[in-house]
Amino acid sequence: MPKLEAQPSPDTEARPPSHLFYLSSLRRPLVDRAEGIYFWTKDGRRFIDGSSGPMVANIGHSNRNVLDAMKRQMDKTTFAYRLHFENEPAEELARELAGKLPAGMDRIFFVSGGSEATESCIKLARQWAVATGQPKRWKVITRFPSYHGGTLGSLSVTGDDALAETFTPMMRVMPAVPAPTAWRDRDNLSMEQRGVRYADMLEEKIQAEGPESVLAFIMEPVGGAATAALVAPDSYYPRIREICDRYGILLIHDEVMSGAGRTGKFLGGDHWNCRPDIVALSKGLGSGYAPLGALAAPVRLVEPLLASGGFQHGHTYAGNPLACAAGLAVLGEMDRLDLIANAAAMGDVLIGELRELAKRFPFMADVRGKGLLLGVEMVADPETLKPIEPTRKATQRLLDHAYARGLIIYGRKVKGGVDGDNFMVAPPMIITREQIGEMIAIIGDSLEALAAELDL
Ligand code: PLP
Repeated sequence: MPKLEAQPSPDTEARPPSHLFYLSSLRRPLVDRAEGIYFWTKDGRRFIDGSSGPMVANIGHSNRNVLDAMKRQMDKTTFAYRLHFENEPAEELARELAGKLPAGMDRIFFVSGGSEATESCIKLARQWAVATGQPKRWKVITRFPSYHGGTLGSLSVTGDDALAETFTPMMRVMPAVPAPTAWRDRDNLSMEQRGVRYADMLEEKIQAEGPESVLAFIMEPVGGAATAALVAPDSYYPRIREICDRYGILLIHDEVMSGAGRTGKFLGGDHWNCRPDIVALSKGLGSGYAPLGALAAPVRLVEPLLASGGFQHGHTYAGNPLACAAGLAVLGEMDRLDLIANAAAMGDVLIGELRELAKRFPFMADVRGKGLLLGVEMVADPETLKPIEPTRKATQRLLDHAYARGLIIYGRKVKGGVDGDNFMVAPPMIITREQIGEMIAIIGDSLEALAAELDL
C-alpha cells in the first residue's frame, strides 16, 4: 500500500486529531460524495478516481440502480446468519456468478473481502486433500512478488518481504517461484520460450519441495499491486495447467483484482481460456458498494468435504444478504451497461495513450496489462533497466503530483520485488474516451513534473 506524503489542505488543517489509525499518520481530505468516476471532498475539490480506489469501484460510484437494490434489501433484512437461514440475494448472486465463470465452477462460498477469499481457497484446498486421503499435501506454492492478502494465512502466500518479515515467526511461509517478468529478460529466447521457462520453474520447485507435499499453486492471471498488472507470455498459462495436472496439484487463481470484468473479460484468466480449480474474487464483485468476496470451485472439490463433515471454515458475515444484494445489482449493471465490452474498448484506448506518453518519457520502460487493469514500470535507464534510486521515491512523487492535480492513481513499491518503480491506472469500467483524455493530460503533466524533479 502506498505511503503518502502529507498534502497541505485547508480541510485537514482545520480538523481535530483523529482517533483512527491506518497505514501512517498521514491525514487525507474528508470525502463528501462520489459519482461516476469522480470524488468530491468536503473542502470542495474534485478528484478523478483513476484507480477505482485500489481497483474496486468497477462499475463507478453511486450507481442509482445498485443503491436502489440495496435500499430494497435494507427494508427487508440486512442480516440473517447462514446457519439459521438461507437468503435470496446470496442464492441469486451465486447462480449469476456461476453463469459467468468457466463451466463447472458452480459452487460458491461468499466472504467479505479479498484476504478472506484467498484464505478460504487455501483452506478449501487443504480440506479437500485431507478428505480425499492426501493428508501429506499442504504446501501452497506462490509467486514472488505477489500479493494475496493481509491475514496470516493469505500473507503466508504473499510474496513481499517487507509485508511478511515482521510476521514470519508466526507463519509457515510458503515456497515461491519468480513471477514471469519475461519482458525484463535479456536473453536470446522468444517471449513464448520465456513463458515456458517461467512455468517450468514451477515444476522445478515442485520437485525440490517433494511432489507429494505440494497441495496447490496460487497466482494472479493478470498481476495486481505487487507487479503492476504484469502479464505472462501466452505460453505460460497452458503450461502451468499441464504441470499442475501432472502432479495432481490444485491451481488457485486469485482474481480478487483482475476479476469481475476489469480486464475486459469476466475473469483475467479467460483471456487464455484458463481452467483453474479454485477462483478467489472480491473487489469489483461488490464494486465498493458492500464488503464482498467469493470463492468458486467445482462440485468435485466441494463434495468430498461436505461428505466428511462440511467446510471447516466460515465468517459471521459470509453470504450477508445486503452485501449479496449489492453484488447482484453490480453484476446486473455490468450486463445492462455492457461494461465488460467497454473495459476492453477503453482499455485499448488507455494503453495506447500511455504508450504514446512512453515515447515522450522513455523512463516508462514497460506499459502493460489487460483491459482497464494497466501498469507502468519506471526505471532510470530503459536500456539496462537500472532502477531509479529508491531514496528518490519516484512512485510516491508521481502519485503526489497526480493527486495535487486532482487525479488518483495507484502505486506501491515491493521490497525485493520488481526493481522498477511502478504505477497503475485502472479507472471504473464506465469511463469514456473524453474522461480518458482528461486523465492522460494530468498523467502527462505529472510525469513531466517528475522528470524535471528527478532529471529522468
Ligand atoms: N488478492 C489480491 C490479488 C489483491 O489485490 C488483494 C488486495 O489488494 C487481496 C488479495 C486482498 O484483498 P483485501 O484487501 O480485500 O483483503
